[in-house]
Amino acid sequence: MTIFQNARFFTTVNHMKDLPATRAEVAFVGRSNSGKSSAINTLANRTRLAFVSKTPGRTQHINFFDLGDERYLVDLPGYGYAEVPEAVRRHWVELLGRYLQTRSSLIGLLMIMDARHPLKELDHNMLEYFRMTGKPVHILLSKADKLSRQDQHKTLAAVKQALADYPGVSVQMFSSLKKTGTDEVEQVVVGWFDA
Ligand code: GDP
Repeated sequence: MTIFQNARFFTTVNHMKDLPATRAEVAFVGRSNSGKSSAINTLANRTRLAFVSKTPGRTQHINFFDLGDERYLVDLPGYGYAEVPEAVRRHWVELLGRYLQTRSSLIGLLMIMDARHPLKELDHNMLEYFRMTGKPVHILLSKADKLSRQDQHKTLAAVKQALADYPGVSVQMFSSLKKTGTDEVEQVVVGWFDA
């Protein structure tokens, strides 16, 4: 049994004041369509756990999944939607920004990026913004099955090099389709929770 396999939907939050008290939590963030929901479902070994995050009207919310032992997995709203009304975008920036900056029980951030298009401008902005917290970031280069082995190695090396100036940032390949990379994520997250 891995740490994610006990995950149960806990609550949806739309305002900072409604955030639940937790002992420790890890959060997943990524561009829309990066494969974030698939990654959460794969790690939890469930087909529709993260489905709730995709329910229309809930995509801008923060979803909590209980991992047991007062530990939580947090699904943050995706960024980079092509067309979002200004008021929605502003609410998103406010909620997500304040969550990332002020949430003391957040112990580490898992960032999902499509392995074919890693480190887009919004990803860089996110890394730069979160860097101030001094907390670790682990990047999953998702949909790795869409790259040849050789291209996976090249991409991994290039991303590592591009992030050499970011202390506390690690990166790996991941595929929800092939279920590869799950052990590595597990190791990182257990390390964070046990630290
Ligand atoms: P989200 O918007 O970041 O939550 O992304 P989703 O998890 O909904 O995935 C976006 C699209 O990418 C969907 O069509 C998925 O089927 C596809 N996808 C996600 N993970 C993988 C993967 O590991 N391999 C492949 N080939 N496709 C994937």
